Amino acid sequence: MTQTTDDFRSLGLSDELLEAVARKGFESPSPIQKLTIPVLLEDKNDIIGQAQTGTGKTAAYTLPLLEHIKGDKGFVQALILVPTRELALQVTDEIHSFGCKGRRVSAIYGGASIGEQLRRLEKGIDIVVGTPGRIIDHLQRGSLDLSSLRYLILDEADEMLNMGFIEDVDCIIEQCSPERRVLLFSATMPERIAELAGKYMKEPLHLKVESPNITADLTDQIYFEVRESDKFDALTRIIDVEPDFYAIVFCRTKVMVDEVVNKLIDRGYAADGLHGDVSQAQRESILRKFKKRVTNIMVATDVAARGIDVNNLTHVINYSLPQDPESYVHRIGRTGRAGNRGTAVTFISNAEYRQFLSMRKSVGGEIRKEQIPSVSDVIALKKRNILEELAETVQCGLVEDYDDMTEEILLTYEPRVAISSLLKMAFKNELDSSRYPEIRTFSVDRKGTARLILSVGRKEGYTPRGIVRLIQRQCGLENAHINDVRLTDDFSFVTIPFSEAENVTHKLNSVMLGNGDKPFAEITKDRKEGKRHGRGNNGRGNGRGRGDNREWRKKRKGDKRGK
Ligand code: AMP
Repeated sequence: MTQTTDDFRSLGLSDELLEAVARKGFESPSPIQKLTIPVLLEDKNDIIGQAQTGTGKTAAYTLPLLEHIKGDKGFVQALILVPTRELALQVTDEIHSFGCKGRRVSAIYGGASIGEQLRRLEKGIDIVVGTPGRIIDHLQRGSLDLSSLRYLILDEADEMLNMGFIEDVDCIIEQCSPERRVLLFSATMPERIAELAGKYMKEPLHLKVESPNITADLTDQIYFEVRESDKFDALTRIIDVEPDFYAIVFCRTKVMVDEVVNKLIDRGYAADGLHGDVSQAQRESILRKFKKRVTNIMVATDVAARGIDVNNLTHVINYSLPQDPESYVHRIGRTGRAGNRGTAVTFISNAEYRQFLSMRKSVGGEIRKEQIPSVSDVIALKKRNILEELAETVQCGLVEDYDDMTEEILLTYEPRVAISSLLKMAFKNELDSSRYPEIRTFSVDRKGTARLILSVGRKEGYTPRGIVRLIQRQCGLENAHINDVRLTDDFSFVTIPFSEAENVTHKLNSVMLGNGDKPFAEITKDRKEGKRHGRGNNGRGNGRGRGDNREWRKKRKGDKRGK
């Protein structure tokens, strides 16, 4: 048995799921998994799990769920409610990746064909992963019955609140079996969520992963937007532009560590890998070589890299994002030690962008976006490095050991031919541009909309129209792009194009209208379900177009009372 399975086994998971976890290359349980899995396996308590996205919370509840749900009971046994279609697909994929063996899992979200969903529901689903609006639609049609539900999971509950779904959630819970267990996950615990928990949960256990506000000042932090499939080639370009590259490359899983190390070695780099399956003896030998710089690239998981005491790294590369902001700070704190400034490079793929935005919020210091060096830049830099090295060597005068040979070479060959041949011998195909596969230009998907929270509301005298005007005036955004404005006494919410979100928050924050030291504007999350709700009403009314649901809700409440 490997270290990995032992770590997960100690939480109480069965062999079937231990195999699945090992197959996925998870090295050790994340903090939220350590906290929640044993409690959920006991199946006695409702729980509130406070954890950010990217902390492994999906596996934290889906692994125990798969232990409890064995399939084919003829009714929906678990409902996982999530705020966005994107998250619904992500959660469904994660569950499938653990192997479902007879359990039928399906995503039911807005924007997809209702007919197809009706067919799937008719055939029978054990675990439904759904967005609130569409779940309500199915309840309304009678195609979804939650009266025998065993588990209700509210994932990213605070986002459901931010996106205005909380009444729907309320309404859905009312339709669930009174015997259901409720598991609520949320990054923050606003009053309305606490209220919801108080109303529907039975003595919930509160499990929280702390993520303190942390800073990482000493290191130059940059990020590249890159396709997952181009990360390796991007890495080689970064290695090649730095003559003294000495770095740890962090990967999420041991499968990924092995893959990256093997590819690096195949391309001729001096790399080694560390992860939980590496024996203690191997680990010591690998570390010795790395400290002596026999190898200059260490590819590692977070756990395996713990305790590596190496100074003067030029780079830390986040080949994949860490599980939480704290790990990010630990990782990058390994550069910039002993007064030397280091560079932390983070690769961001589409799938990582949301988590990156929330991580960036918690980590102090600027993380700059940069472009991956072009092939011609890499080659020009390599040439310059060779010439610089030559200049340093020439400065030391004639190299006696090679003097006789030099004379013989100059007598035998044209100097130009001799030197270029020597360079070829020394640097082989280093300057050959064809060794660098093309990396297609790429930007992460910023399409869709973003929901902003502004720390001003009715108390400051704002109206929806006033918020629209403020954004128009300060940020130059057109009226048509400002939607779904909602106000509470202290806050306002507004939906704008995702592509404008960073610019708008930056501009609003720079005019310093905030309450005390709170930021004035923040992106709460991208909002991909906008089609159904974003009806372009420019802040007049709630813009959610769901009067029919309200009517239905009232009716159901009436029905209940009448019973
Ligand atoms: P989540 O916070 O659930 O969105 O998870 C973020 C990513 O972390 C997903 O790609 C998971 O597959 C991955 N993940 C979850 N648990 C672990 C773990 N223990 N070790 C490594 N990766 C994990």
